[in-house]
Amino acid sequence: MCFGCNARLNRGENQLCTVCRNQLPLTEYNFNDENAVDRIFYGRINITKANSFLFFTQNGIVKNLIHHLKYKNQQQIGTLLGDWHGQLIADTKFIDQIDFVIPVPLHPKKQKRRGYNQVSEFGKQLALHLNATFYENALIKTANTKTQTKKGRIGRWQQNRSLYILENSKKLENKKILLVDDVITTGATMEICSQTLSQAKGINIYITSMAVVPLD
Ligand SMILES: [Zn+2]
Repeated sequence: MCFGCNARLNRGENQLCTVCRNQLPLTEYNFNDENAVDRIFYGRINITKANSFLFFTQNGIVKNLIHHLKYKNQQQIGTLLGDWHGQLIADTKFIDQIDFVIPVPLHPKKQKRRGYNQVSEFGKQLALHLNATFYENALIKTANTKTQTKKGRIGRWQQNRSLYILENSKKLENKKILLVDDVITTGATMEICSQTLSQAKGINIYITSMAVVPLD
């Protein structure tokens, strides 16, 4: 079955049918030109550059893919997306040599329930293509609450400040890191994770995700 449209797969097709594969809405944002993902973070956090692999729309292939990845134990979707996006990033060469690829973490309890962090396979593939080290537990989520999105930015930041801690801030000093998540919507999660990572002196943060909700 195709994870994008539920059609039966033909021989030689893997996870996605040829139609869905050709219709995947690639953003084609690289780490060179200014793009809509950068603009989400302007004035909020000090990051070097951001991009996303796909556009996330409510109905469609990407939504189905992420749903299967997150809730249906289909971790290989993360591998597929990471392999594809990693190749694109590596080919364009618009990124500095990355030391660590770091996933946005789940709370340990939630991860135990799900059995995996849905961002991990994606991150591992990116690390492979970028000759970087995948650093799974660099960030640790300490409170099992949803990221607040209703409050104003300042209030939200203060409230979420202690949601994440660093496993070892010394290890991240003066390092170039790529922070990865599944879907960027308001950017609130990336913002608070980046703030936490910035506790490491001289850190340089790039951001990417499987998908971004397009802004009007
Ligand atoms: Zn399909």
